[in-house]
Amino acid sequence: MCGIVGYIGSQPPVDFLIRGLRMLEYRGYDSAGVAVNDSNKKIRCVKTPGRIDVLDKLVQEQLQPLQAAGLNGVFSGIGHTRWATHGLPTKENAHPHISFDGAVAVVHNGVIENYQTVKNELQKKGIRFTTQTDTESITHLLAFYLKEEQAKEESKTLSAEDLILRVVNLTLSQLHGTYGLAILFRDYPDIMVGAKFGSPLIFGIGKGESFLTSDAATLAGYTDRIITLSDHEVVCFTASDYSLHHRDTGTVQPRIEVLDIDPSQVDKGGFEHYMLKEIFEQPEAVRNTLRGRFDYDSATAKFGGLNLSAAQLLSVQRIMMTACGTSWHASLVGEYQIEMLSRIPVEVEYASELRYRNPPLDKNTLLFALTQSGETADTLA
Ligand code: GLU
Repeated sequence: MCGIVGYIGSQPPVDFLIRGLRMLEYRGYDSAGVAVNDSNKKIRCVKTPGRIDVLDKLVQEQLQPLQAAGLNGVFSGIGHTRWATHGLPTKENAHPHISFDGAVAVVHNGVIENYQTVKNELQKKGIRFTTQTDTESITHLLAFYLKEEQAKEESKTLSAEDLILRVVNLTLSQLHGTYGLAILFRDYPDIMVGAKFGSPLIFGIGKGESFLTSDAATLAGYTDRIITLSDHEVVCFTASDYSLHHRDTGTVQPRIEVLDIDPSQVDKGGFEHYMLKEIFEQPEAVRNTLRGRFDYDSATAKFGGLNLSAAQLLSVQRIMMTACGTSWHASLVGEYQIEMLSRIPVEVEYASELRYRNPPLDKNTLLFALTQSGETADTLA
């Protein structure tokens, strides 16, 4: 499921960000983006639906020249691959999201369940929303609290880190749902924040540079010292320093682990070949795919594309799955699972057959068309 990367240090961040996003592609995504602090104290953002290759090209054209100077030699940036849950995979809905005043940029993996309530409150205060995402609420809420805290007389006595932590904690206390977050600040370009609840997040400690990522493998070759964040933890960091905080217990002692991955083995993860790696990764891949998608409280799930109401779902009497190749085999597994759990009959059909047939598909039949590449001609037809 989608991914996050972040960087602060003395190097332009784009190379690490794009390389990291490429390594997170296996998690599945529909759009991607990066944001960097540029030398004019402005957050610059580039995002697009589609592949990292497309993003890379846009970044080379639009961001590389701009951020060449950094700000006082410090560079910071965040990147994201999105797998939409709220709103279509469009450029506007892609992350990073920039706050109404340009002060905060956020990338988010997960689902904010009470985003509509937060959104309503912020809209009442005159803040305009421009996307359909749940994530935009987090971004504006952070900026709202930041502005409020910055205006307070007492905040002048606070360090930038303490002020930021206060703002982040205020924001997180308003959110219900799951998140891996990376947050970039226009006014504090040398400080970044990562926060985790339910979605994986790893902090990397380099020499004069710091990293955030959803998968430690992206850090191989950059650093071997990592901290795996636990739920309700926030890491606040600069290029050379960091502190770890827990919602309930305050500042916590960091648990530094040694990352034991040979950069040359990253792609194959230590396995002899890719097929073996993918077979062994299946349980984790399924867990990652489902993470943050289930809403146990209301016994439902959130998936981009599958947005049927409970009433519509209850009217389903038959399910048909159509696909080719690997997706066809995956559908067979789906058939067993769906029948076992839902007691609704499922059939799996080759798309190359189905497209030339005229089968009876009544209005109570739910059809899934599966394609791994998104380009399987028979399935699309
Ligand atoms: N819920 C967010 C969105 O739809 C994040 C999805 C993700 O995990 O990539 O934009």
